[in-house]
Amino acid sequence: MPRPSSPRLLLLLPTTTYRTAAFVEAARRLGVALTVASDEPSTFESSQPAGLLTLDFAHLDRAVEQAAVFAREHPIAGVVGVDDDTAVLAAVIVERLGARELKGNPVTAALAARDKHRQRVLLAEHGVPAPAFELHALEEDPAGLAHRVRYPCVLKPLRLSASRGVMRADDGAGFVSAFGRLKAILKQPDVAACGEPARHFLVEDFVPGVEVALEGLVADGCLRVLALFDKPDPLDGPFFEETIYVTPSRLPERAERAIAACAQAAVTALGIREGPVHAELRHNDRGAWLIELAARPIGGRCGAVLRFETREGGNAKRETLSLEEVVIRHALGMPLTALEREQRAAGVMMIPVPGTGGGVLREVRGVAEARAVPLVEDVAITAHRGQTLVPWPEGSRYPGFIFARGETPEAVEAALRMAHRRLQFVTG
Ligand code: ADP
Repeated sequence: MPRPSSPRLLLLLPTTTYRTAAFVEAARRLGVALTVASDEPSTFESSQPAGLLTLDFAHLDRAVEQAAVFAREHPIAGVVGVDDDTAVLAAVIVERLGARELKGNPVTAALAARDKHRQRVLLAEHGVPAPAFELHALEEDPAGLAHRVRYPCVLKPLRLSASRGVMRADDGAGFVSAFGRLKAILKQPDVAACGEPARHFLVEDFVPGVEVALEGLVADGCLRVLALFDKPDPLDGPFFEETIYVTPSRLPERAERAIAACAQAAVTALGIREGPVHAELRHNDRGAWLIELAARPIGGRCGAVLRFETREGGNAKRETLSLEEVVIRHALGMPLTALEREQRAAGVMMIPVPGTGGGVLREVRGVAEARAVPLVEDVAITAHRGQTLVPWPEGSRYPGFIFARGETPEAVEAALRMAHRRLQFVTG
């Protein structure tokens, strides 16, 4: 139970998120007072006026005033957003409530992290290695464009996430076909609702090489790498659905250092000052390349793969922390002494949508058998029976996740693959 004097955290949660439980549990463990803000009123709000808050996420000005009114009665010591949109709202709230007392990012930085075009412009201005890019409008003539762009290239939307709508094209015919698919995705009502950004897209040079994901924490503009994940399945397109993440990375130390330096340069270029970042980078014989950096922690359920150890006050006892605890502690200015990821290797597999056409999920077989694979800690099937599974690039939701922990990254990767082989998704 939080004590009456406990600092209060304002946690901004989109209604559709897997993350609520992990953050609520983290706040409980830390003994902080928690206010969960979301954009749909909860039936429990009147019974817990300090614990739940409705903010109009779609209208930043309104949401920030609502938060300010709330904060007058319940002073807030930290604000955390968990996805790209709530990270922007968190920055706006911190700016409104007093950026001196609260840790947060400048609004311009949070906006640049959310918008792929703005991000590319800032990276180029600061000389951070990143793909060459051009901004185009959906009304342009695809056949004409197809003649002008360089191949291989990547077409991508400005605001979507989880690789939705990201496609590689190797020639003119591939470009025209990818353009048609991207246009249809950007016209879907949930996407078109974001207005102007849904009427444009980027065309970038395809950067070859191995890809890693970097999980980090920024304090006063300095990036601390919390974990570096290898992505052992090649991500060469034409679509970029993720599969396995394993940490620690097996890349040579020099490559890891180049990757960390590139991520720090991106943090500086975007103006990020505080809080979690999640970045995708590539590495090839020309060094490290920034593909994307987001001002939020790793998405979906994947955060569960990370565990940290910290030591309070010199050689006092070691404590194990979840990623969510690290993020909350940082937001509230609580100590994070000698923070390190646990010694063991860990990995997660984002389970691919089965087959090429997806379909309606009827049944998932073999879950118990997959869970029984040594080193596997959990198999979480998040899709429900009757759900339509949509493959990439139109889709962006994995039907589930497999988690494993072991002595080496090789053993963890093998366990994830074996567990996946035991699963059977029946669709129809
Ligand atoms: P999202 O935010 O939707 O995940 P990204 O820009 O991170 O979009 O792209 C998703 C994935 O597509 C990346 O992780 C990477 O594998 C691939 N990708 C994107 N842009 C490029 C590029 N220019 N060159 C090579 N691969 C790319």
